[in-house]
Amino acid sequence: MKKVVIIGGGIAGLISSILLARKGIQVLIIEKKSYPFHRVCGEYISNETIAFLQQHNLFPGQHNPATIDRFQLSAVSGKNVVMPLDLGGFGISRYTLDNFLYKHAKDAGVNFLLNAEAEQVVYHGEEFLVKTATQSLHADIVIGAFGKRSRMDVVLERSFIRKRSPYVGVKYHVRAEHPADLIALHNFSGGYCGISNIEDGKTNICYLTHRDNIKKYKSIREMEEAVLHCNPLLKNIFRNADFLFEKPEVINEISFETKSAVTDHILMAGDAAGMITPLCGNGMAMAMHAAKIVSELVIRFCEDKHFSRQQLEAIYTQQWNRIFSQRLWAGRQIQKLFGNAWASNVAVNLAIHVRPIANTIMRNTHGDGF
Ligand SMILES: Cc1cc2nc3c(=O)[nH]c(=O)nc-3n(C[C@H](O)[C@H](O)[C@H](O)COP(=O)(O)OP(=O)(O)OC[C@H]3O[C@@H](n4cnc5c(N)ncnc54)[C@H](O)[C@@H]3O)c2cc1C
Repeated sequence: MKKVVIIGGGIAGLISSILLARKGIQVLIIEKKSYPFHRVCGEYISNETIAFLQQHNLFPGQHNPATIDRFQLSAVSGKNVVMPLDLGGFGISRYTLDNFLYKHAKDAGVNFLLNAEAEQVVYHGEEFLVKTATQSLHADIVIGAFGKRSRMDVVLERSFIRKRSPYVGVKYHVRAEHPADLIALHNFSGGYCGISNIEDGKTNICYLTHRDNIKKYKSIREMEEAVLHCNPLLKNIFRNADFLFEKPEVINEISFETKSAVTDHILMAGDAAGMITPLCGNGMAMAMHAAKIVSELVIRFCEDKHFSRQQLEAIYTQQWNRIFSQRLWAGRQIQKLFGNAWASNVAVNLAIHVRPIANTIMRNTHGDGF
């Protein structure tokens, strides 16, 4: 029986593990943390995932996710437009969603090594050896689902890791007067902030900013008051919300550089293969979709002795590029319209006056059901 080791238990890792284990494949996830835990994420999931999640009994309906079908875009000045979201989405915290998927993975028979970090992967003679601080694990297949930036990227000497990235992400959960069906994207100088509801009527506030904004001020709170509050819509929500975390979740060095779908025979899924800019609200849908395609090919590799590793890697790379490359490129281009007073005003005016352009932009960053 073939053994699969998955490095990283986020969306891509957990969903791949469930699909593989349900086919009788032996799967182990190595995850640095233990569930449940908070992560920096806007927590808005595109509806393109619903059919897939329902088909696999993985839609977290019992946790009452928010249903979101309107989009508000504001410029740095606060000038804004509200429009319907063609596809729409739902809101659920990663704290709840990842824990829900973790329980499904356990039920499917997935083994976990929690609070453990993969430190090295050696491939030799059709077999992998995955090393943590205390263990060496053998595997026939390794899936790299270790997210946007990991020690594994350094070990594998992936080229993007050498370039510094200026982006910092910050997240809060709050209680606020935010309409349950609305996702807002507010610009501020040097960044943008998403606001949308999650389960239990709570609201997620999550923003991406340039690190220069943070360096200029003594604390994140001070920077928010000086920079984010210049957009009156952001000032209103920050001033009136009841903050539920003692301090924000923060991550830095968020990179949108291109990566590869396969490195040293490790099949990369989710952000480890390529990260879309968060303003598209599509990273989790892409991680789920990648989990589906990598699992289908790994199942074939495990079941069909004529399907070689070389074919597996070539077909995965080809499928990954066909499905995701264009979206990542579109996300990078659209991000240029954000975080700047003039460009964000252009974006809002385009959305107001040339609605088909706004719809085309949304379509280009989202996929179809899978
Ligand atoms: C500011 C911001 C806002 C966002 N907002 C949204 C949004 O609203 N909607 C959306 O769809 N997407 C959003 N995203 C993107 C989304 O969060 C990611 O695309 C998604 O989490 C990718 O899932 P993943 O499984 O690839 O990685 P992750 O969910 O990041 O999981 C990776 C896991 O690997 C573990 N790990 C890393 N290295 C190791 C190691 N060496 N050994 C063991 N474990 C390891 C980590 O602990 C982590 O649990 C946002 C991203 C950012 C930065």
